[in-house]
This record gives sequence, C-alpha cells and structure tokens, in this order.
Amino acid sequence: MAIARPIPDLNDRPYFHPDFLTHRWEVWGVWGVWEVWGERFLPHPPTPPTLLDFSLVRNPGHKAFVAVYNQRMQKLTITRPDDWHLHLRDGAALKAVLPFTVRQFARAIIMPNLKPPIRSVADAACYRDRILAAIPEGQQFEPLMTLYLTDNTSPDEILRAKESPFIKAVKYYPAGATTNSDSGVTDILKCDRVFEAMQQVDMPLLLHGEVTDNDVDTFDREKVFIERHLIPFKQRFPNLRVVLEHITTSDAVQYVLSANTIAATITPQHLLFNRNALFKGGLRTHFYCLPILKREEHRQALLQAATSGNPKFFLGTDSAPHTRTSKESSCGCAGCFSALHALELYAEAFESVKALDKLEAFASFYGPDFYQLPRNTERITLSKTTWRVPDEVPFMESGLVPLGAGQEMTWQMV
Ligand SMILES: [Zn+2]
Repeated sequence: MAIARPIPDLNDRPYFHPDFLTHRWEVWGVWGVWEVWGERFLPHPPTPPTLLDFSLVRNPGHKAFVAVYNQRMQKLTITRPDDWHLHLRDGAALKAVLPFTVRQFARAIIMPNLKPPIRSVADAACYRDRILAAIPEGQQFEPLMTLYLTDNTSPDEILRAKESPFIKAVKYYPAGATTNSDSGVTDILKCDRVFEAMQQVDMPLLLHGEVTDNDVDTFDREKVFIERHLIPFKQRFPNLRVVLEHITTSDAVQYVLSANTIAATITPQHLLFNRNALFKGGLRTHFYCLPILKREEHRQALLQAATSGNPKFFLGTDSAPHTRTSKESSCGCAGCFSALHALELYAEAFESVKALDKLEAFASFYGPDFYQLPRNTERITLSKTTWRVPDEVPFMESGLVPLGAGQEMTWQMV
C-alpha cells in the first residue's frame, strides 16, 4: 500500500512519485511523466482507463500523478496552424486585419470576393503582392490565393492557375449568396467545362454551399444545396476535389462523411454558438454570418465532426471584417471577425467536449494534407489564462467588433 505524501510544487518540473515504479498502475504514471519530459504533453490520455479512473483512495500515490497532469494542462503546445478560409479585404482594411492572422497562422486560403472579385491569375498575383506588402515587418506569412468563379471563367484560366505557384483553389459563390457575391455563378450547370478542366488538373473547388432561392428558408439553404446541387454535381465530377466551406448542419456532416474527394471547413462561430445567439435579449447582428447559425443539434454535430479526428474536417475561420457601422445598421452585413482570437475560440470549443488532444490535427495537419502542402514545423503555445475579448479593435472609421466581444475566454495564445 502506498503512503500518502504531501504534493510538491509541480509548476516547473515533473514529479516522480517513489511509488510509481512499484504499483500495478504505475505504467500509466510513467507514461504521463515521460510525456511531460518530452514536452509533448497530451491533454487527454488514451481511454480506457483515464487517469481519473484510478483508485485514488487506495493508492494515494496517484493523487500526485493527477496533480502533475492537472498542472501541465495549463499549457497546450501545437504545430502552428493555417486558416483554410479567410477574408482579408483590401487597402486599409487589409492592413488593419492581416497582423491578427499573421500572429496565429502560417498560411491562409484567401477568399477572392473583393469588389471587383479576383477572377484571373493576373488579379490574384496583384492581390497577393498587396497582401505580402501588408505583412508586419519581420514576420512570416504565406497567402494561398483563390480565383472567383463566374459564369464566364474559362478553362484556359484554370490551366494558367494550375501553373501558378500560389493559386491553390477556385471559389464558387452562388450569385447573391453572401458579401460581394453578385458576380457569382447563376447556374452551376453553366460551368461544366471549367469543372472538367479543374478535375483534369486536380484544382480544388471551394463551395459556398447554399441555394439563394427566395422560397427556401434561410435555415434550410445549405441542406437544400446539398440535395439539389452538390449530390448530382459530385456524380458528374467524382474526382474533383471539393471543400464544402463553413459547414453548419448535421446534413453537411453526413454528406461529407458519405462522399469521396470532399472535405469541409468549420468556423469557430458554428462550433460555439447556436442560432439563439442571434436573438439573445434583442437582435445581435455581430453573430450574423452566412451560412447563418443553426439549431443546437447542428452545432453538436459540427463539434462531433471537428473533434472526431476525421481528416475530412479542418479549420477555416471565415473571419470576415466589417466596420461596426456596417454591422449595426438596418441591413447589417454578414460575417464574424475571429482572426483576433481564432485559436482560442477553437480551443474553447474543443475543450467543451474534452477533446483538446484533437485540436492540433484539426488546426494544423488535415488542411495541408488536403491541399497537398507540407505541414508547418514551427510550434505555438496556448496558455490557460482568463481574459476578456475586447469590445472593439481599431478598424477603418468605426472599429471592428470581434466574435464574442466582452465574453470571458480561458485560453490565450502566448
Ligand atoms: Zn467566407
């Protein structure tokens, strides 16, 4: 029988309890200590058994080990992630928001819905130069560019894009679906020649998966898009690699799981909030994004997918800056700004279902794997610290309200 001993200060060094090597459970204790030494601490050990299953009363030595474990939960070090869906805008707005993304992410897939949109390789090259010029001095960031698909995009443009070293995908917006999407595709059937070219050269297609028909309820538009357009589309182009962007429903999760050559990005807002957030005590325009927040059962399905360890689901913030006045108006713009604290938001979501050990692959591995790019090697650290999301950050003429402004967070990137 082990003898209870006082638990020492565990902040800075692993504690090796003398009883660890002699007890039948001790292999778990050694595993845990080894992980601490290797700085590759896993926030949640393999199950079963979990550490809390240990018989603490009969074996007080394990209280010490659990204490080691809990102390080390204060930090989470992972491979630097990438953002696989980002809106940076242009000009002064670009300069204002880019530093937030550069601080957290090594690369990002840049959405092309500027005014006018990025329709050609030449447009993308100029936009990329403006992004590179806006990177803060001495910092590293790689913008991965996309082309905006229109009814008039030519197969030749796809071939040029494939030859370019920095264009990684083509974005499909149904005309009128969201911010600056007026030049989008009016009928997905009109672009078959372009899709054939994309399939041939293996250029991924990124979908804003919503119908825009006025007779389809806003909350059903993703589900109807999948049924009406995506399923037949994938039958026509089975080898075209597709990302269903910012999925919001259990229907999308089910479809992505069931189909081949298709992956999905998931935003922090769709993991953390259901549609009640839009109406809590009044109309909350800062939670308005497209596709719109859905019922709790859909949020639960997204959380399950994101934390499942399935490589088809990876991080894409869809961070989309709008000035406070353009959000707080009689016709508020769609989009949530999360570049300030994206990783912290994802960490909160993953921790809420005790799945922090799945965050690194979701944030840093499955995206580059899908895009056939090398994973990053640099590492970043989140620390367990309570802080409050600021009400506003400086942006253009009226400031920018971050997602969850004023709310308390428990993880912070250091
Ligand atoms: Zn977007």
